[in-house]
Parts: sequence; C-alpha cells; structure tokens
Amino acid sequence: MSKEVAIIGGGVIGLCCAFYLQQEGYEVTVIEQGDISSGTSFGNAGYISPSHFIPLASPGIVAKGLRWMLSSSSTFYIKPRLDRSLFQWGIQFWKKANARTVALHMPHLNNILHLSRELTSEIKNVTGNHFRMQEIGCFMLYKNPDTEKHELELAREAAHFGIETKIMSAAEVQAVEPDVQLNIRGGVLYPSDCHLHPGDFMRTLKDHLLQKGVHLKLNTRATGFEKNINTVTGVITDNGKVDCDQLVLATGSWLPVMARQLGIHLLLQAGKGYSITFENIERNLRYPAILVDDRVAMTPMGGDLRMGGTMEISGLDSPLLIKRAQAIFKAARNYYPDLPVSFPAREQIWSGLRPLSPDGLPYIGRHSTCDNLTIAGGHAMLGLSLAAGTGKLVEEIVSGKKTSIDISAFDVERYR
Ligand SMILES: Cc1cc2nc3c(=O)[nH]c(=O)nc-3n(C[C@H](O)[C@H](O)[C@H](O)COP(=O)(O)OP(=O)(O)OC[C@H]3O[C@@H](n4cnc5c(N)ncnc54)[C@H](O)[C@@H]3O)c2cc1C
Repeated sequence: MSKEVAIIGGGVIGLCCAFYLQQEGYEVTVIEQGDISSGTSFGNAGYISPSHFIPLASPGIVAKGLRWMLSSSSTFYIKPRLDRSLFQWGIQFWKKANARTVALHMPHLNNILHLSRELTSEIKNVTGNHFRMQEIGCFMLYKNPDTEKHELELAREAAHFGIETKIMSAAEVQAVEPDVQLNIRGGVLYPSDCHLHPGDFMRTLKDHLLQKGVHLKLNTRATGFEKNINTVTGVITDNGKVDCDQLVLATGSWLPVMARQLGIHLLLQAGKGYSITFENIERNLRYPAILVDDRVAMTPMGGDLRMGGTMEISGLDSPLLIKRAQAIFKAARNYYPDLPVSFPAREQIWSGLRPLSPDGLPYIGRHSTCDNLTIAGGHAMLGLSLAAGTGKLVEEIVSGKKTSIDISAFDVERYR
C-alpha cells in the first residue's frame, strides 16, 4: 500500500495518528509549524486518566463559571469579550452542562479512556519507556468536607464503570507519601491511572516516527488546500505543497482556523492552563495528585515535580497572567506545607492551550464536506489520556475498518 496521508499538527494527537497510520503501512507526512519541542503537548500534567470519565461540561459548572468569571485568579476564568464564536460555544456549553447529557456522554468517554490507557502501554512496549511512565495510580486529595462528599460519590460512580478506587484517610495517604508533609482531609486513589513525562513522550514519538520513515515537515505552516471537487489533493504550506490521498486535521486549539479554510465551522475554544516545573528537587512526591478543592495537578516526574492547573478562556493570544501561576503555587503549599520549592521567575512559568469542544468530548471522524478528510481534535483536558486511542481510531477510519469502539458521540458535525 502506498497511500499518502498528510497530518496537519504535530502535537500529541497528530503524532499518535502518525504512529498508527505508519504501523499500517501508510506513507505519512506530519506538517507542523513548530519543531515539536514545545507547546501544549509538552508542558501538561502528564496524566493518563481513566478516572476522568466526567466531561468538563457538567452540572454546576456554568454557575461556578459565572461566579469565577469575576476573578482572573480563579480556577475557571472566561475573559468577557465580544466574539460570535465564543458566544455560540458558550450557548452549547451551557446546553450540554446538565445531568442527562453527562449521563449519555460518560460511557463514551469511559470507552475511549480505557482504549487509550491500554494503547499507551502498548506504545511504551514498542518504543521503550523513555518517558518516565509510572503505572501506580493517581490521588484525588481534598481538604473540604463537601469536596470529600462529592469525591466519594464519584468513586461510587466509577465502580459502575469497573474503575477501581481506594478511599483513604489522611494518615493512610501520608503513610504512602513519606517524604513530604500533607495537610488534607483524605483522598481517593485511582490505581489504574498512570503518569509520564509528556515532553519525553513527545520526543520518543518523534524519534520513533523518524526512524520508521515518517516525514516530519517542521517549521512549516499549512495555509490552505488544493481540492478536486470534494477531495483534498494537497496541503499548501509556506514551504511548498504536500500531496495527499488522505488528510488528517490535528491542529489542537487552531482546529477552527484550519477547518475554516475547508468551509467547516467547528465550535472550539482554547482553554489556557499554566504549569511550573521544579527540577531535581530535594524531596519529592511519590504519587501524582489532583488537589480537588483548587483543581491543581501535582506530578512527580522522576526527580522533577510539576504543578499545573487553571482554565482561562481568553482566546489564542492572551498574555500570561502571573497571578494564575501564583494561585497554583499557593494551593500546592496549602496541601504540602513543607515542599522544598519556591515560586520561580516569570520565564519558568509555562502556559498551554487546551482545545475545548462545548460538551467536553473530542471531535473524531470524517466530515461530509470532503471525502478524504478526518478530523481529530477538541480533546480538552484529556489530550494526552486520549491520544493513543485517537491515533488508533483515526487509522481505522482512514482504512475504512470498523472502529474499535462506537465513535458516534465524537461526531465532528454534531453542532451543525
Ligand atoms: C496545564 C495543562 C495540563 C494538562 N494536563 C493534562 C493531563 O495531565 N493529561 C491529559 O490527558 N491532558 C492534559 N492536558 C491537555 C493536553 O495537553 C491537550 O489536550 C493536548 O496536548 C492537545 O493535543 P493536540 O495535539 O490536540 O494539540 P497541540 O498539542 O496544541 O498540537 C497542535 C499542533 O498543531 C500545530 N498547528 C496549528 N496550526 C497549524 C498550521 N496551520 N500548520 C502547521 N501546524 C499547525 C501547532 O503548532 C501544534 O503543535 C493539559 C493541558 C494543560 C494546558
């Protein structure tokens, strides 16, 4: 088989699509405007989380969002602005944030999370674990009694999906986390979650793809398309044209920008998040943990520690807000009072853009506008968790196979 597939976007989604397409014998070219060394897929918290089976658009989030909107240091911040696509996105987000829709979506999210969790281990077996993957689970830690109640309900819900949980007292968590002091009420461990160093994962994928003969067209921006009636025959870039039999759009938060060139209107907003990484710290956590009251993620990565969080819907080019990183650091200190770290210089604060669909489910599938186009994006807070599964599904779609799971909920035209 010598079918040429062009993938636009060299984030974790684009590279995992390339991984599975190359494995099936396709001639793959990845077009990436950067050089696959930085960006959202590098600085994230590194969780592969089957535990995250509840989509972002869930009951209560709209009321919270409206309250939080008033404070730019809050967990979830929408910068008020006059923007038609933000308004359309907001309306759909509000419509989907109800118990009935969430109940419909959870099994689909759960299916792709499980598929992806298994396949991430499979990728590790193919490439070798050069990305500090540790399969020890992840804690949800809480301080507040209401949060505890909510987390215990979620743990019961998780059992319905066959997800194992372990409810632990503060003393029990402290016993397995002996090197740092904890100031918590308790926690729930999700043993099937795992974590890795996302930058090392990306570098491993990049090296693997190069070794397997995938063409990486780096520092190259896709600017348009060449079409023959309903078929895309080439991608026009600022560095020449790339011919293709099949096209995959995996441009993360820039998905609507590229889709628009094909006459496709996709509802998607960028959700900015921040992280701070401390290298080779003197005492570290043993377990990754989400500090649920403050929505902060703590991830030990070998000798390094990363803390990240916040969701800021403020467009593609908004400036870095130092107080948001300070809020993350403050929360970490509240939970782990003796962490041997201090707030870093501004240059060490990272930010990235989560591609958010209104309902929190990804867009994966064909689009009726073009007969050889597959879209893969909108993975929100779960891009790393869902990347391997998405790559596999995209290969199955391109090959015309029956997909490993039902992908109807990820329909790319569901807001038409
Ligand atoms: C603080 C934070 C913590 C997170 N933690 C986790 C976590 O623990 N677990 C998890 O599963 N997810 C997490 N996420 C989410 C995850 O990082 C994203 O969902 C994921 O990285 C999105 O991958 P992507 O490939 O779709 O997009 P991206 O990584 O943004 O890749 C898209 C690529 O397309 C390229 N591109 C765009 N337009 C063009 C063009 N015209 N031509 C060429 N190239 C183009 C861009 O340069 C970019 O490299 C986190 C995100 C943040 C911000």
